[in-house]
Amino acid sequence: MSAELISGKDIAAKLREDVASDVARLKADHGFTPGLAVVLVGEDPASQIYVRNKGKMTEEAGMNSFTHRLAEDASQAEVEALLTSLNEDEAVDGILLQLPLPKHLDEPAAIAKISPDKDVDGLTEASAGRLSLGKPGIRPCTPAGCVILAKYALGEDLSGKNVVVIGRSILVGKPAALLFLEQNCTVTIAHSRTKDLPEVCRSADILVAAVGRPKFVQSDWVKPGACVIDVGINRIPAPEKGEGKTRVVGDVDFDAAKEVAGQITPVPGSVGPMTIAGLLVNTLECAKLRRGI
Ligand code: NAP
Repeated sequence: MSAELISGKDIAAKLREDVASDVARLKADHGFTPGLAVVLVGEDPASQIYVRNKGKMTEEAGMNSFTHRLAEDASQAEVEALLTSLNEDEAVDGILLQLPLPKHLDEPAAIAKISPDKDVDGLTEASAGRLSLGKPGIRPCTPAGCVILAKYALGEDLSGKNVVVIGRSILVGKPAALLFLEQNCTVTIAHSRTKDLPEVCRSADILVAAVGRPKFVQSDWVKPGACVIDVGINRIPAPEKGEGKTRVVGDVDFDAAKEVAGQITPVPGSVGPMTIAGLLVNTLECAKLRRGI
C-alpha cells in the first residue's frame, strides 16, 4: 500500500498567502514594510539557489528583501561587521546567515553577532535557550515546518506519539526534538553513535530524518503506517538526465519507504518549501514584536 504524500508545497503556499495578507495589513494600518536580510558568504551553488529563492518569495509576500554577498575568502571581521550593521538597520526586521559558512570562518561566533530580535532562524543562544526552557520565541524554520507537516498528517494533537529524530545538529535535529517534546511527544534523538538505529527507528510513530546521507533510511526501519518526515537534501548523479546532471533526493529511500509508511514527505517539495515559508512567518513575527504590534 502506498503512503499518503504530505504536500509541504501546498501547505507552504497557504502560509505564504497568509503572510502576504498580514504584510498588506501592516502596510495599510502601520505604514511600514517588513524587511528580511540574507547574508551569503562564498559561492556554494546550493546556497546560491536557496538565497535566490528566499529573496524571490520574500518579495512575493510583499516584504523588502536585502541580499548581501561576501566573497568566499571574507574574513570573520567582515562577516561580523556586516551582521552588526544589519542589527542596527531600521529597515531590517530579520537576518538570515546562510549556512554553512566557508570552513575558515567561526560559525558559532558569527551567529552570536545576530541580534536575538532579528534572529529569524532561531539559532542564537537566546532563541535556543528560550526553546529549551519552553518559553515563547522565534523557532527555527525547518524544525517548525516538520511539526506543522506532522500535524497536517496526523491531526493537531500529537501528544503521546513516539518521535525518533535522526540527527542532532543545532540547525535541525536538536530543535526538532525539542519542538516535538513541546507537543508532548515522547522523543528519541538518534545520531552517529546510536546503537541499532533500525530498531530505534521502528519504534517511531513519527520518524524525522535529518542526516544528510542520500536514501539512508531503509524501508524496513519504518514502522508500518508511520509518518515519515524527510528533511534531507542530497544531490546525487542522475545520468538518466544527461551527462554530468544531478538530482535531489532525501535521507529516506522514498520509493521503498512509501510502501510501508502511512504518510511521507517527498523530496524535493515538502520540508524545503516549509522552511522558506517559516522564514517569512518569522520575519513578520520579528517585525511585529520589534514594533510592539
Ligand atoms: P549535519 O549538521 O551534518 O547533521 C547531521 C546529523 O546526522 C548529525 O547529528 C549526525 O550525527 C547524524 N548522522 C550522520 N551520520 C549518521 C549515521 N550513520 N547514523 C545516524 N546518524 C548520523 O546536518 P543538518 O544541518 O542537520 O542537515 C541534515 C540534512 O537536512 C542535510 O541533508 C541538509 O541538507 C538538510 N537540510 C534541509 C533543510 C530543508 O529546508 N529541507 C534545511 C536544513 C538542512 P553526529 O552528531 O553523531 O555526527
